[in-house]
Amino acid sequence: MARRAVIIGAGITGALVAWRLVRAGWSVTVLEARHVGAGSSSRTAAGIRQQFSTPETVLGMRYAVDYYRRFRDEVGGDTVPIVQNGYLFLYALQEDWDAAKYRVQMQQACGLDEVEALEVGPLVRRFPWVERHAVLGGTYCPTDGFLRPETVYNEAIAAARRLGAVIAQNAPVTGVEGSGGRIDTVLTPTGRYPADLVFDCTNAWSPRLARVLGGTALPIAPRKRYLWMCERAGSMSGETLSGMPLTVSPSGAYCRPENEDSLLMGWAHDAPEEPDFTYEDQDLVEPAFFHRSGPDSYGYSTWMALAEVLPPIGEFAGITATTSGYYAVTPDHNPFLGYDPQVKNLVRLVGFSGHGAMFGPFTAHVAAALAEAGHDVPAVDVLGHAAELAAFRIGRRYGHGEKLVI
Ligand SMILES: Cc1cc2nc3c(=O)[nH]c(=O)nc-3n(C[C@H](O)[C@H](O)[C@H](O)COP(=O)(O)OP(=O)(O)OC[C@H]3O[C@@H](n4cnc5c(N)ncnc54)[C@H](O)[C@@H]3O)c2cc1C
Repeated sequence: MARRAVIIGAGITGALVAWRLVRAGWSVTVLEARHVGAGSSSRTAAGIRQQFSTPETVLGMRYAVDYYRRFRDEVGGDTVPIVQNGYLFLYALQEDWDAAKYRVQMQQACGLDEVEALEVGPLVRRFPWVERHAVLGGTYCPTDGFLRPETVYNEAIAAARRLGAVIAQNAPVTGVEGSGGRIDTVLTPTGRYPADLVFDCTNAWSPRLARVLGGTALPIAPRKRYLWMCERAGSMSGETLSGMPLTVSPSGAYCRPENEDSLLMGWAHDAPEEPDFTYEDQDLVEPAFFHRSGPDSYGYSTWMALAEVLPPIGEFAGITATTSGYYAVTPDHNPFLGYDPQVKNLVRLVGFSGHGAMFGPFTAHVAAALAEAGHDVPAVDVLGHAAELAAFRIGRRYGHGEKLVI
């Protein structure tokens, strides 16, 4: 009989893990409290980059970029879900710019040959919409970009279903039965699901689910993040806008094209931890963040912070929409990918700290290796390199955190 995997949560993580395991011969059931894509996966900026400060993540995201490019062959569907416009990080302080150049060397040593550090002259020649007096330089990787997240989770769920996976929606996990430190059966209000292996793919809900499953209390803080849509006007053409890389200003405010008329903008703020957020809270926009609140709103500040460095954006017509969702933030901004120390057959794939959409394929790759081994493994193979997993292990020390967080 095929081994039985129960996957809890049907966002990008659960969907890609389901597809990966069903192809590896597991009998897969996905249990989703609401509907496919009900969490952060449908509320994301969906940037994907290989420019990280953690070498293992550089490798993992090289894997993810490659996977998303081959998505139609790997998973199916008609749409390639990655737009490779690149990622441009801009720097204005000497200390930050020196650290960025050093990181580029590390990233190149991880096989990311195409990432470059551009001093201000070459930078503004390549990206003439950058204000040359506002920056010292920038790092650019042309194979980075952004995703179409709904394509990822919808196609992966559909593909898993075609190979026999059971996808139960409106099926919140409310309890388990087990013995000897293992989960034998996962319970929802209407069903009982026997399991050999259980995967927690609930990200921002994971601390709550852990209490239901008897798992380890992991330090994961759900924190609100907002996005705004700004409409193009003025001197920037639609062609220029739609070809722009995802650009991160020295302030941390970032933007990317949504299409040739709309710019998606984001900027992290000092958000409180909301351990008990509700589904409705995901879309609750506080007045201080709502675009219709005018120039005092954080959306407007984000727009102006970007316009300081990217002047043509200051000529845009205005902000037309505000959306929001939750990051699941860990102390070092790296996720937890591993077996739960308190439940022998529970794998936690959570705490993505704003990187879960891009992590998806790598997360599924790690999940398959963990499922095969039956215990934590030190590394997985990524395009011929060994990607060490110590940085993602549960129970790690939080000394060297990820430095590139937006
Ligand atoms: C504003 C914003 C911008 C972002 N920008 C980026 C970015 O640029 N790049 C990037 O990679 N990431 C980004 N992220 C983060 C990214 O969206 C998430 O890390 C990713 O979507 C997490 O996917 P997931 O499948 O792990 O979790 P989710 O998509 O949150 O899915 C979890 C699922 O678990 C279900 N669930 C919860 N409890 C239960 C239960 N008891 N039983 C059954 N099901 C349950 C939920 O209903 C939900 O569907 C951003 C997030 C936000 C909010």
